[in-house]
Amino acid sequence: MASTYDDRVPSNGTPLYCAQPPQPERVLRPDLSPERARAILVGQSKWVNGTVIRYCFFDELGGGQSRDQLDEVRSAFQDWKNIGIGLEFREVADPSESEVRIGFRQGDGSWSYVGVNVLEHSTRERTMNFGWDLTSPHGRATARHEIGHAIGFAHEHQNPFAGIVWDEEKVYADLGGPPNNWPRTTTFHNVLRKLSPNEVEGSDWDPDSIMEYGFSAGLIVQPEEFRGGIDSPRNLSAKDKHFVQKWYPPIAAKPARLQPFQSMALSLDPGKQADFEIIPPETRKYELGTFGNSDAVMVLFEDVDGELRYLAGEDDSGVDMNGRVTVKLFKGRRYVLRTRLYSTWGSGNVALMYW
Ligand SMILES: [Zn+2]
Repeated sequence: MASTYDDRVPSNGTPLYCAQPPQPERVLRPDLSPERARAILVGQSKWVNGTVIRYCFFDELGGGQSRDQLDEVRSAFQDWKNIGIGLEFREVADPSESEVRIGFRQGDGSWSYVGVNVLEHSTRERTMNFGWDLTSPHGRATARHEIGHAIGFAHEHQNPFAGIVWDEEKVYADLGGPPNNWPRTTTFHNVLRKLSPNEVEGSDWDPDSIMEYGFSAGLIVQPEEFRGGIDSPRNLSAKDKHFVQKWYPPIAAKPARLQPFQSMALSLDPGKQADFEIIPPETRKYELGTFGNSDAVMVLFEDVDGELRYLAGEDDSGVDMNGRVTVKLFKGRRYVLRTRLYSTWGSGNVALMYW
């Protein structure tokens, strides 16, 4: 799809690029079927839909940022939300209450951990940084790009279906010079390294994606049309919108009620989610679990003053055992259980119960 010039930040020399920190790669059991492995890898960083992602401005504690930088981040969250998605974003002041912690350390580049991987990091650490002004067109695109990472999306120029052939030494030289001054390892990790086909959405390349970088002339050898360079995307593309809605469609405000010992069949396509409301009849420890041959993630939230707060979760993907959560629930309180299915095999029949 051709992009209009207005959707691009013209390449005026090499722009400052997002530099993702390396993250541990998930190694799956080798005997998993290709379909099962793909379903797990493409879904592993995504949040369960309906999650309220709380973010805080980390460096506000230490001295503060100018208001226009913070407003640009707020507006970038709103742009993703305005697509019409089930995720919620809420700004909080206390880092210990947040999943996403945003710094503005100049000189540390711009980056974010990907999706639920932010949960692996202490609430005393940043999970995202902005290393340059966010009010320019490139800065505005950067804010939207890093939030794309935070909700589970990877770099589009590393999509193996792009068929990009690089002039590798030129790429190392270009990114090794100003303004990025990257060591070769950073360039390899963020540009030249191809993602596994199992990790990426769909089966083609979206050069208009906000998760794509612009490049100077001479770095891309193939496809030929990009030899003259590619300008940086400025806005969320049509495919960005499609994929974020696929993972996070709008959700029903009132999920079906689940009773203790009542088995609920889950007839879900891979990647889809079912939500249930639980109001326990007595206070005690309960177990929640799935049955059948499935890879699934279950996350239980408690309704605290109208906002659903994470209580417990279990991801049983990649193993042949079903996930179980043991948790004390309180009589009369309201909980919501969200279950996203990665894949099924065997009979394909999957059920959910709490008891
Ligand atoms: Zn990035």
